[in-house]
Amino acid sequence: MSGTFENPEVIQEEVDILLIGGGMACCGAAYEIMRWADAAKRENGVDLKIKLVDKAAMDRSGAVAQGLSAINTYIGDAQDPADYARMVSNDLMGITRDDLAYDVGRHVDESVHLFEEWGLPIWKTDEAGERHDGSVDMPKLKDGGKPVRSGKWQIMINGESYKWIVAEAAKKALGMDRIQERIFIVKLVNDKNDKNRIAGAVGFSVRENKVVVYKAKAILLAAGGCVNLFRPRSVGEGQGRAWYPVWNAGSTYTMAAEAGAELTMMENRFVPARFKDGYGPVGAWFLLFKAQATNANGEVYMVKNKEMLNDYPPYGQAAVPASCLRNHLMLKEMKEGRGPIYMDTVTALAKLKETLSPREVKHLEAEAWEDFLDMCVGQCGVWVGENIEPEKKNSELMPTEPYLLGSHSGCCGIWTSGPEDVGAPMTEGQAGVPAHLPTGWNWGYRGMTTVKGLFTAGDGVGASGHKFSSGSHAEGRLAAKAMVKYCIDNKDMVVELDTPADQLVAEIYKPVRTYLEFKDYSTAIDVNPNYITPKMLQFRLQKIMDEYVAGVATYYTTNDKMLAVASEKLDMLKEDAEKMRAKDLHELLRAWENYHRILTAEAHMKHILFREESRYPGFYYRMDKNFVDEENWKCFVNSIYDKTTKQWTCFKRAHVDLVDKSK
Ligand code: FAD
Repeated sequence: MSGTFENPEVIQEEVDILLIGGGMACCGAAYEIMRWADAAKRENGVDLKIKLVDKAAMDRSGAVAQGLSAINTYIGDAQDPADYARMVSNDLMGITRDDLAYDVGRHVDESVHLFEEWGLPIWKTDEAGERHDGSVDMPKLKDGGKPVRSGKWQIMINGESYKWIVAEAAKKALGMDRIQERIFIVKLVNDKNDKNRIAGAVGFSVRENKVVVYKAKAILLAAGGCVNLFRPRSVGEGQGRAWYPVWNAGSTYTMAAEAGAELTMMENRFVPARFKDGYGPVGAWFLLFKAQATNANGEVYMVKNKEMLNDYPPYGQAAVPASCLRNHLMLKEMKEGRGPIYMDTVTALAKLKETLSPREVKHLEAEAWEDFLDMCVGQCGVWVGENIEPEKKNSELMPTEPYLLGSHSGCCGIWTSGPEDVGAPMTEGQAGVPAHLPTGWNWGYRGMTTVKGLFTAGDGVGASGHKFSSGSHAEGRLAAKAMVKYCIDNKDMVVELDTPADQLVAEIYKPVRTYLEFKDYSTAIDVNPNYITPKMLQFRLQKIMDEYVAGVATYYTTNDKMLAVASEKLDMLKEDAEKMRAKDLHELLRAWENYHRILTAEAHMKHILFREESRYPGFYYRMDKNFVDEENWKCFVNSIYDKTTKQWTCFKRAHVDLVDKSK
């Protein structure tokens, strides 16, 4: 029987493994898991029931929804995964988990080879050095084909349909009867008899009046990063435009935290400098077309302000300085009034014309447009709307509002178990680390969080950025294999939800019931003393974060006093969040997205406060501690959230280099 808006139908389902998300990581898991599940049935007599749920439609969900023009992590035969781990570490100012990065480095290429097998066109270079964009038949990468590299680790693709291709393979491998789209998961549920074990998850259909309560022994939580927790630069009708895809709302971090999982590096953020207003990619312009970014006077700030990099050894002095430091040099120009900042497309294309034939130049110009068409159509709209021909007019660059993510050029996320064979240092007895948490970097299952049975991948895995689309897919595959092993090892385990289903349903539908109870109190539907609309609440969150937690309003600066104000205001916001209304299922989605954003935002703020230095100049500055303190703060900042007391505990974990960084 179908439910009503007030009383949704409740569906209870018991599975062994639940995959939450349908992005790159979960598509990797979905592709990989059946072969291990089939083997488990054959060899261990364990018949695993598996389900994948995505809040959207997998073909176009997550950060790759619009497509991409490059795969940013492909190691290739001639490179060493240890070098990749070195690059990841330097770009993230020295504090990353080498075990996780190295593990991605040694597995990622296989995912890329699969993408190519499934039909993704990858650009290649022929013997004569000429570029082919995938439409010409060339040897596959795994057969020695040479990719067109736009950087040391990146390769170019015709990727408008990238997500579609990857999702198709995932669906085929898992089977549509194991997939449910348009289910938004609101919270995870712990085990009644072991609060440090996962037992299930609860969510709702964004299309029908249905709540779903899953019981599961193992869960892969890979619901992406977090956007729109800060006031975006785009306002009004343009607000849907952000660099980060607007539908990843911090679900990964909040749900993991509430389940008791240890988070790591939540102070980290990513502030990409992108083409203004359209947020188009800059990688191909910098790396492939060799363009330079300048201030308004045409000065190349990376040259002009080079000395500033010496303030941050060794991260500023690497061949490619850390991403945040590149912003740091740009911000100096903006703050001192030498903006706008431009991508000098005119000079770059003119220089290329000196050595290329007219046919090649035409091809190049087409590539420049295609770079946007593949992954950010909106940027083409800006170019067309503003009469920008890149060979004639330069385009503005702008650092965006901050985003939280763990797989692109950021490393916030969940503390996870690394591979068994890459030395996992023991950090036993470290002051401040809660006693119930694991000591080393491996506690049995790759990708498992500190909550038994709860796994993560992609943006969920903290302290190991630069995985990108391919690395997230590979990490999902690694987690899938580990989850099957976990289920085999625990085949007789019975889990029990710590909260009755009707209580979970009442909690999820509270915004609906608040609306229905009070809607007739006032004549204007959005103005009511008994409730707040999700939209208004989101504005409040964004204002607090922007003005006190180093958003664009303060040029990414904050201090302990501002953070204290933010803390107080967030507490009050959380009180009011209890009164969010939902007048339809869309608002119910918005309400819970907000809830996920708020807790993610709080974790970010708490971590910035705890880390008494400015580790990421250019991404944020603690102006009361405006330095990098290698002696005291070259460590992970981790935290635990207690959902009963609603308190965060932040603590340090020792950082260890497993890869020699002096090379
Ligand atoms: P996603 O792929 O974002 O997937 C998250 C999934 O979770 C989605 O399916 C979403 O619908 C679902 N979800 C979210 N919340 C919930 C919930 N509560 N319940 C159920 N489902 C939920 N990589 C490259 O290799 N090359 C590039 O050029 C490149 N460019 C990028 C440009 C941008 C703007 C961004 C944001 C990323 C880019 N990346 C690029 C990185 C790449 O997209 C990510 O690394 C990758 O998508 C991360 O995979 P994921 O599975 O962790 O998250």
